[in-house]
Amino acid sequence: MKAVIYESFQGPITLKNVSERTPKEYGVVISVKATGLCRSDWHGWMGHDQDIKLPHVPGHEFSGIVESVGKNVRNFRIGDRVTVPFVCGCGSCGQCLSGNHQVCDNQSQPGFTHWGSFAEYVAVDYADTNLVKLPEEISFKTAALLGCRFITSYRAIVAQGKVLGGEFVAIHGCGGVGLSAIMIAHALGAQVIAIDINDETLNLATKLGATATINAFNNPHIVEQVKSLTKGGAHVSVDALGSATTCFNSIANLRKRGRHIQVGLMTGDHCHAKVPMDKVLANELEIIGSHGMQAYKYPELLEMIKKGKLHPEKLIEKNISLEECTQALPNMNKFDHKGVWLVDSF
Ligand SMILES: [Zn+2]
Ligand SMILES: [Zn+2]
Repeated sequence: MKAVIYESFQGPITLKNVSERTPKEYGVVISVKATGLCRSDWHGWMGHDQDIKLPHVPGHEFSGIVESVGKNVRNFRIGDRVTVPFVCGCGSCGQCLSGNHQVCDNQSQPGFTHWGSFAEYVAVDYADTNLVKLPEEISFKTAALLGCRFITSYRAIVAQGKVLGGEFVAIHGCGGVGLSAIMIAHALGAQVIAIDINDETLNLATKLGATATINAFNNPHIVEQVKSLTKGGAHVSVDALGSATTCFNSIANLRKRGRHIQVGLMTGDHCHAKVPMDKVLANELEIIGSHGMQAYKYPELLEMIKKGKLHPEKLIEKNISLEECTQALPNMNKFDHKGVWLVDSF
């Protein structure tokens, strides 16, 4: 099968013929029909992810058709149209048994713990736990956009943030995660403040439902501006970028009893960012993480898409081929993307 592969961190990325995947007893192999590029793939290539063993095939948000099935899979068969969340659960640890597969103790992540979806085929273990059947109305492209950024934002806004209509929501950083969060919070009836360093990105944020925008470039007054726009502070605030500055601002711009949701990955020097803990105490703030979403929670999200309340496909900036992926991946860290790049030809 064709696959995008690298043999050293920060080294060349090439399109090569590699051996076909075979399903495990409880797993399947999926023929990939669409797959998104994400900054986590870039972090992996940089060497920021301890799970990755070389040589490696990245790619973790995808959709496709079940190609082959392990002997113990009960609920899926060859030909099913499916997608998976980027965190796949084992189905049997304490976290999975409590319904929290997104923090499974034995989790696997295609494109990190094993070869991913920048290839013609990808293997997924524990298919009955992790596969999501796609309704006919949901295209492969739309489904591929959900697996990482969109479901994490959905869980952040709906399950973790418990955003209500009329509440003020601040979104710090308008990449794929931030734009998804804006669309979802807007669909729930929230008033969304979008914060980013790029005016074009902020224009897109407005089109997706932001009611106000703040350009953060060389701007030391973001917290005050959010507080003024929200008449005292946001009810819910999301660090959708993952940096010490956006994390701090997202907590500091909350009103009393506000909820901060950390969605952007904190890596390198940002791992242990400074927190305004005095405000957390005095104002009873909540600090919550969001890490993917369980496969069994997809139907409510797919229903909102079917009803036209959410339009993930609006996040697509560019469609590229698997071959072009080799050039696009090393450049993911340049902040010139105004949406998601999607591989749709293999
Ligand atoms: Zn991702
Ligand atoms: Zn588990």
